[in-house]
Amino acid sequence: MAAEHAFQVSILASGSSGNALYIETEKKKFLVDAGLSGKKITSLLASVDRKPEDLDGILVTHEHKDHIHGVGVLARKYNLAVYANEKTWQAMDGMIGNVADEQKYIFEMGKVMTFGDMDVESFGVSHDAAAPQFYRFYKDGKSFVVLTDTGYCSDHLRGVVKNADAYLVESNHDLEMLRMGGYPWSLKQRILGDKGHLSNDDGALVMTDVLGDRTKRIYLGHLSRENNIKELAHLTMENVLTEKGLGVNYDFRVYDTDPDEASDLFAI
Ligand SMILES: [Zn+2]
Ligand SMILES: [Zn+2]
Repeated sequence: MAAEHAFQVSILASGSSGNALYIETEKKKFLVDAGLSGKKITSLLASVDRKPEDLDGILVTHEHKDHIHGVGVLARKYNLAVYANEKTWQAMDGMIGNVADEQKYIFEMGKVMTFGDMDVESFGVSHDAAAPQFYRFYKDGKSFVVLTDTGYCSDHLRGVVKNADAYLVESNHDLEMLRMGGYPWSLKQRILGDKGHLSNDDGALVMTDVLGDRTKRIYLGHLSRENNIKELAHLTMENVLTEKGLGVNYDFRVYDTDPDEASDLFAI
């Protein structure tokens, strides 16, 4: 008998200090990024009853440390396939230690790859890395979008991520907290720039544009420890969507993520 859901997902950790997401279908088990130590990711997986040795691979988004810190360790220890685009592979060179050639796979931007019973589409984002890309997962008419680490969402990108069943979307910072906070001016400019990160407001505006009748879950991701507060990110998303007349807590729900604790495994 086929399962009623297409995917089970846990956001293992999300935030400027480290990112990793677990997604499985009946046939496949993947991580999107492994931006914490191998040990920490193993314990996060254990908290949702999963094991790294059962993984089929890791899909890498870009070479920033908060996304690849544990990639090399996990790939070596559990003989995992690692997927990234060519430029990201070049940029990762020397950052993740030695990964055997036969474990390295190319996943070019804008392409769809099929893994067993699911399709995965990659799409480019606007961020200060070599060739950052995120992913949309498809199975049985359902889909899940992972979209963080972007300073800007083009119309094209909005089209690519439209009307998914669930989203992990960036709510990196509160604009006022960032402006008033202690970061050096140059770093503030970097975060606020087109190749930085989406603020709470920006993330919410993107969601008003892209969510659709299928959308049931919006997870707020990649919160800055210094320039954001969970409650503020949450309220901003709910308020912006409510103002636009969208059915918060009725058609869909907004969920928090955590930098150190895995979300419950949820079904899509
Ligand atoms: Zn990044
Ligand atoms: Zn990041």
